[in-house]
Amino acid sequence: MESKVGNALTDDLYDLFTSAEFDEYRIYENFEKCSKCELLRFCCGCPAVAYGYSGNMYAPDPQCWKVIEDKEM
Ligand code: SF4
Repeated sequence: MESKVGNALTDDLYDLFTSAEFDEYRIYENFEKCSKCELLRFCCGCPAVAYGYSGNMYAPDPQCWKVIEDKEM
Protein backbone atom coordinates (compact mmCIF):
# COMPACT_ATOMS: atom_id res chain seq x y z
CA MET A 1 0.00 0.00 0.00
CA GLU A 2 1.50 3.31 -1.02
CA SER A 3 1.25 5.72 1.88
CA LYS A 4 4.15 8.12 1.93
CA VAL A 5 3.71 10.54 4.81
CA GLY A 6 7.33 11.56 5.19
CA ASN A 7 10.83 10.25 5.64
CA ALA A 8 11.58 8.44 8.90
CA LEU A 9 15.31 8.97 8.35
CA THR A 10 15.17 12.75 8.01
CA ASP A 11 11.87 13.94 9.50
CA ASP A 12 10.96 14.19 13.16
CA LEU A 13 8.91 11.05 14.02
CA TYR A 14 6.63 12.98 16.36
CA ASP A 15 5.86 15.49 13.60
CA LEU A 16 5.14 12.65 11.16
CA PHE A 17 2.90 10.81 13.60
CA THR A 18 0.88 13.94 14.40
CA SER A 19 0.70 15.19 10.79
CA ALA A 20 -2.54 15.72 8.84
CA GLU A 21 -1.43 13.05 6.36
CA PHE A 22 -1.19 10.50 9.17
CA ASP A 23 -4.58 11.56 10.56
CA GLU A 24 -6.16 10.03 7.45
CA TYR A 25 -5.35 6.62 8.94
CA ARG A 26 -7.13 7.50 12.16
CA ILE A 27 -10.59 8.28 10.80
CA TYR A 28 -11.96 5.21 12.54
CA GLU A 29 -15.59 5.75 11.57
CA ASN A 30 -14.56 5.02 7.95
CA PHE A 31 -13.42 1.48 8.77
CA GLU A 32 -16.30 -0.68 7.59
CA LYS A 33 -16.02 -3.44 10.17
CA CYS A 34 -13.73 -2.11 12.90
CA SER A 35 -15.92 0.96 13.44
CA LYS A 36 -18.60 -1.42 14.77
CA CYS A 37 -16.24 -3.43 16.99
CA GLU A 38 -15.80 -3.01 20.74
CA LEU A 39 -12.11 -3.92 20.34
CA LEU A 40 -11.38 -0.94 18.08
CA ARG A 41 -9.45 1.03 20.69
CA PHE A 42 -7.06 -1.90 21.17
CA CYS A 43 -6.83 -3.20 17.61
CA CYS A 44 -8.29 -1.52 14.44
CA GLY A 45 -6.91 -4.24 12.15
CA CYS A 46 -4.36 -3.60 9.43
CA PRO A 47 -5.45 -1.14 6.72
CA ALA A 48 -2.49 -2.17 4.54
CA VAL A 49 -3.60 -5.82 4.53
CA ALA A 50 -7.18 -4.76 3.81
CA TYR A 51 -5.94 -2.61 0.92
CA GLY A 52 -3.76 -5.39 -0.47
CA TYR A 53 -6.66 -7.84 -0.34
CA SER A 54 -9.48 -5.64 -1.63
CA GLY A 55 -8.01 -2.35 -2.90
CA ASN A 56 -9.83 -0.49 -0.09
CA MET A 57 -7.98 0.31 3.12
CA TYR A 58 -11.29 0.81 4.93
CA ALA A 59 -12.55 -2.69 4.03
CA PRO A 60 -12.54 -5.39 6.73
CA ASP A 61 -9.09 -6.81 7.49
CA PRO A 62 -9.26 -10.38 6.06
CA GLN A 63 -7.10 -11.60 8.97
CA CYS A 64 -9.74 -10.59 11.51
CA TRP A 65 -11.28 -13.47 13.47
CA LYS A 66 -14.02 -11.42 15.13
CA VAL A 67 -17.66 -11.87 14.19
CA ILE A 68 -19.57 -8.61 14.35
CA GLU A 69 -23.30 -9.04 14.82
CA ASP A 70 -24.54 -6.61 12.19
CA LYS A 71 -26.99 -7.50 9.44
CA GLU A 72 -25.39 -4.90 7.11
CA MET A 73 -21.97 -6.66 7.21
S1 SF4 B 1 -11.03 -7.39 16.15
FE1 SF4 B 1 -11.37 -7.22 13.93
S2 SF4 B 1 -13.15 -5.89 13.70
FE2 SF4 B 1 -12.35 -5.63 15.79
S3 SF4 B 1 -10.98 -3.89 15.68
FE3 SF4 B 1 -9.75 -5.74 15.38
S4 SF4 B 1 -9.64 -6.07 13.15
FE4 SF4 B 1 -11.30 -4.63 13.58
